[in-house]
Amino acid sequence: MEIYYTIIVFMYGLLLGSFYNVVGYRLPNNISIVKPGSFCPKCKHELKWYELVPVFSFLIQGGKCRKCKCKISLFYPFIELTTGILFAISYLLFGFSLNFFIAILASSFLVIVIVSDFNYLIISDEVTLTFSILSILFQLVLSGWELALSSVLYGSFLFILMYVVMLIGSKIMNEEALGGGDVKLMFFVGTVLNVINPINVLDILTYASFTNGFFELFLSSCLALPFAFLSRILKKGRAIPFGPFILLSLVIMFFISFDFFDFIKLFTN
Ligand SMILES: [Zn+2]
Repeated sequence: MEIYYTIIVFMYGLLLGSFYNVVGYRLPNNISIVKPGSFCPKCKHELKWYELVPVFSFLIQGGKCRKCKCKISLFYPFIELTTGILFAISYLLFGFSLNFFIAILASSFLVIVIVSDFNYLIISDEVTLTFSILSILFQLVLSGWELALSSVLYGSFLFILMYVVMLIGSKIMNEEALGGGDVKLMFFVGTVLNVINPINVLDILTYASFTNGFFELFLSSCLALPFAFLSRILKKGRAIPFGPFILLSLVIMFFISFDFFDFIKLFTN
């Protein structure tokens, strides 16, 4: 039964992944995500349903448009496959639970931001807002108002913290250190981290609450570093987006239920 559900969840991931390709490409360009239907970016040939089957259509057509034979970017099936795999891992780790839904939410957000931030250096506010609301809603429905409320507080806390970091950073370096999109992302990050180990409302201003947020950003920087280094060598001056790494480290921390405060206690006790 487990393998059966894993395959179903994986299939849903593939399907949603192909939708996330559309969302990630169209929203930053202000194109509706519903109309028109998917089309070949080169010859504008509108795609039939059998040309839209995730991964399989790409393989059967040999990675080419059926009409103009232009090459289709490997990025599309990569995004679909990544979504499917992340969904399957979420199910295998958490079963059908609150954590499963939060995990697929964070994975979905990661995939959309990979598409839009890597291509356009933009994270749409609509997407950030939608995922933040969904995270709180899932927690409200599947756990209760206590968790939802403390997640709102922790999300707001990380958002304000990041905003202050951005202000100080831009004063010191005299240029934009972090994008506004990355700052808004932190509310969502806070609501997800809070599910791993919900913070007590009274503890919100103690050092216990800083640790996970700071560790998350530290991990994001570590993951981004090799890419920043590579892009320096390959293409001079091209800014590398930070958003995908913030969400990648969030997904990693959530998958392994990593709590930095507990981690420290291992060494101090
Ligand atoms: Zn074409």
